[in-house]
Amino acid sequence: MPGDRLPYLCERLQPFGGASVFAEMSALAVRTGAVNLGQGFPDANGPDAVASAAIEAIRGDFNQYPPGIGYPVLRQAVAEHQQRFWGLEFDSDTEVLITAGATEAVTAAVLALAGPGDEVITFEPFFDIYPADISMAGATRRLVQLRPPGYAFDPDELAAAFGPRTRLLLLNSPHNPTGKVFSAAELDMIARLCVEHDVIAVTDEVYEHLTFDQNTHVPLATRPGMADRTVTISSGGKTLSFTGWKIGWVCARPELVRAVQATKQLLTYVSGGPFQPAVAVGLRLGDEYFRGLAADLQARRDLLCDGLAAAGFEPIVPQGTYYITADIRPLGASDGLEFCRSLPERCGVVAVPVQVLCDDRAMGAPYVRFAACKRREVLTEAIERLGGRANR
Ligand code: PMP
Repeated sequence: MPGDRLPYLCERLQPFGGASVFAEMSALAVRTGAVNLGQGFPDANGPDAVASAAIEAIRGDFNQYPPGIGYPVLRQAVAEHQQRFWGLEFDSDTEVLITAGATEAVTAAVLALAGPGDEVITFEPFFDIYPADISMAGATRRLVQLRPPGYAFDPDELAAAFGPRTRLLLLNSPHNPTGKVFSAAELDMIARLCVEHDVIAVTDEVYEHLTFDQNTHVPLATRPGMADRTVTISSGGKTLSFTGWKIGWVCARPELVRAVQATKQLLTYVSGGPFQPAVAVGLRLGDEYFRGLAADLQARRDLLCDGLAAAGFEPIVPQGTYYITADIRPLGASDGLEFCRSLPERCGVVAVPVQVLCDDRAMGAPYVRFAACKRREVLTEAIERLGGRANR
């Protein structure tokens, strides 16, 4: 947990050094036999055609170091995907870079584009690697709050976060952990400020296909003035339900891609050879696959939201992603960390406290995050276990 000191770890990384709360909660799930709704990964495989393509690639010619920017077949599939779904044009030879998941892409982008003395704006609650990436770059984070229950941000707070030292804005939409999908109007506000202050945006869009109801994903790069100043990042993990494959990508103008590649080549150089052509097959699946993925997850979101409400939580219905955040105050609790540490023993269910994903711990304290990306029978079992027994 943050706060535990590791004897050999450098000062810069001490705040991020202890076992993450995700690891702590997963270990707790194993020890207590609890249903793990903590970590966000599906408990079923992705499409057979994609798995078969990986097996074929391993039997074939994709087992040595891929080219530094990734195999052409995947770069072309990524460029086609950006055009097909979002109307964004990228040259697959100069404007697409394949990475070891979105994780490496975000890390390489932040390390490449920000340094000591620079400020990076992002939102809180945050995906846990963002503050660590900003610290590794030696830069300073400026956080803008997404306030529950609506997870709107205050436009004045966002405007005030921009200043002469602002170098990057790091945006995640659809957003983990809140499930917020930033609207076109919100993105336009962000775009205007980036243009006005000459700031580059790095966007993490790994949940791009997981949006619900009338909400649709809008890439920041589509907004006025942003095509040339946005580094758009995503990966195949969530879209294809193979989160362990760690194939991600960066799409941006050639000069930005070259800067990120210069950093990425020092991290892993290349990775995931045979998974690259397989992810290309996945990105070219028909529209019905992508529609089905979102519809299926939406049904599970509804099942879990209803179950949480019946158990006495106040769930905040997410617009997208794997996650549901829920207020624990109706259950008589107010500290999510304490609540999550005792939930496995009390109920046999694991969740993640939102406060560990915030600098402002008080804002996140009464909320916990559940993952809805599990099989229906697993969700039903969790709901039964929570029913009437989540009270403390
Ligand atoms: N960004 C966000 C917002 C995520 O939630 C996750 C996975 N939990 C990642 C990036 C990691 O993506 P990848 O597995 O492609 O590295």
